[in-house]
Amino acid sequence: MKILVVEDEQRAADYLRQGLAENGYTVEVALTGTDGLHAAMTGDHDLVVLDVMLPGVDGFAVLSALRTARQTPVLMLTARGQMNDKVRGFDLGADDYLVKPFQFPELLARVRALLKRGKAAGADPAERVADLEIDPVRHRATRAGQRIDLTAKEFALLVLLVQRSGEVLSRTEIASLVWDIHFDSETNVVDVAIRRLRAKVDDPFETKLIQTVRGVGYVLEARPGA
Ligand code: CA
Repeated sequence: MKILVVEDEQRAADYLRQGLAENGYTVEVALTGTDGLHAAMTGDHDLVVLDVMLPGVDGFAVLSALRTARQTPVLMLTARGQMNDKVRGFDLGADDYLVKPFQFPELLARVRALLKRGKAAGADPAERVADLEIDPVRHRATRAGQRIDLTAKEFALLVLLVQRSGEVLSRTEIASLVWDIHFDSETNVVDVAIRRLRAKVDDPFETKLIQTVRGVGYVLEARPGA
């Protein structure tokens, strides 16, 4: 289990790193909000421990940006008595909240509870077509057990195709559901994205899953003999 700690105070960060590592977790530390956000958006952490008070990009900004693309569980840390922070944190999609100063066993209990919850939630919505598997909660896609690295939009597109596999989706519908753009005119945004997705999801593998339906759109399905 991999945990990202975003905490600007070096001593507190070291304390968290050491305590979590001693309990068997792999820990990555980011000392600024910017680094933390980048790490959370690009890494495959099972949990983010996020301090609210960070210089520059604070914990709320990190959380809000993270939630546009990812649902990694987030445990927020803040100073005592900041009730508004707590409400704001939950509004922005924090999964739990811990007030500083705290005892390490308390943090550990929250971490364990969140990871357990994430696992339970992550087990259910995983969906599979042939050897392609996606887990929308943890933002993961694998094919034949190999992890596929996708951008947020590529992942959203793949989730749509998998969840409605076997169903032909028009370019207009895909554009509206994935990009929230509504157009009547010709645009190649969908075709370009499909091409990129195919390069990652289909090209390295023998069986192609993303099929073009000429004049209509795309469908994801495993075609026997295709
Ligand atoms: Ca801080």
